[in-house]
Amino acid sequence: MATFLLFSSTAMAEWVGETEAHMGTEISVYLWHDDPAEAKQAVAAIFAEVARLDRLMSTYIEDSKMSEINRLAATQPVLAGEELFSLVQRSLDISRLTRGAFDITYDSIGRHYDFRAGLRPDASTLEQALPLIDYRHVTLDRSNGTIRFERAGVRINLGGIAKGYAVERGVEVARRFGVRHARVTAGGDTRLLGDRRGTPWMVGVQNPRDDSQVAVTIPLDNEAISTSGDYERFFEEDGERYHHIIVPSTGTPAGEVHSATVIGPDAVITDALSTSVFVMGVDQGLRLIASLPDYEGIVIDASGQMFYSSGLQAPE
Ligand code: ADP
Ligand code: MG
Repeated sequence: MATFLLFSSTAMAEWVGETEAHMGTEISVYLWHDDPAEAKQAVAAIFAEVARLDRLMSTYIEDSKMSEINRLAATQPVLAGEELFSLVQRSLDISRLTRGAFDITYDSIGRHYDFRAGLRPDASTLEQALPLIDYRHVTLDRSNGTIRFERAGVRINLGGIAKGYAVERGVEVARRFGVRHARVTAGGDTRLLGDRRGTPWMVGVQNPRDDSQVAVTIPLDNEAISTSGDYERFFEEDGERYHHIIVPSTGTPAGEVHSATVIGPDAVITDALSTSVFVMGVDQGLRLIASLPDYEGIVIDASGQMFYSSGLQAPE
């Protein structure tokens, strides 16, 4: 305490942490900077960057570029801007990699779900809209930078990849401020910069059926970790849980697992892959992870059992 009083008038390096609501979720930033004033500026710049991305990519914001694409791309090619174009392109790459488990056109049906209001599409809406879910309906023209939909009614939504991109951009902004130790989290997606000054960051994977419990804690540095769960956004009807991760081939929520976690160097990839592995289930999902040398995964199935990719040791 005496030490604190003695130095309280001097600017002292310390950890700075803040949380704000953006992109329909909680964004939290925790970083170290030797200069507290710079630290504050870095935190503000990271939130500003996340807010910018939300304005660009949100389907809830009517004048976002994303909304414009969804309104017009079935009738004419729409100029997307380099950033959005390349994120859509990366999404389509992941669709090919996961054989369609990850598919941003899920929203052709996804938009008929409202988890807060407890609404879901009826059988005829589902049947009519199902053929609209197919990433091959999205055509990119690289030379013009335009996006086009091959069918009327197709909708895209970057909800399964945008938060990973946002935390990736977040650490990039931190780096520009000279930060070397940071943790940026957007909902289930976390990107770590450096370590926690001499010790690794400890990141917990939540117990999918008890948010006061951590299923496993993983030491990490300089990496990204994403978890997709059926407990984030859902409602229940007649004992069935309807949640926000949709199987593209059926247009209904995936049922095989309770959560899927992916760890690796790039949060864009871990975000998209955690959604993909959730859809693919334990066997197929972990087989996909095994094929990607830099990525590891943890799946918790519907009975609560945990499955690890080969690069992670199951704790005793
Ligand atoms: P969270 O949003 O909780 O971090 P995810 O990263 O798994 O969880 O993203 C879930 C979001 O991904 C959904 O809210 C929706 O916007 C989108 N989504 C749902 N199903 C799919 C799918 N099959 N392919 C791509 N995106 C999807
Ligand atoms: Mg995801």
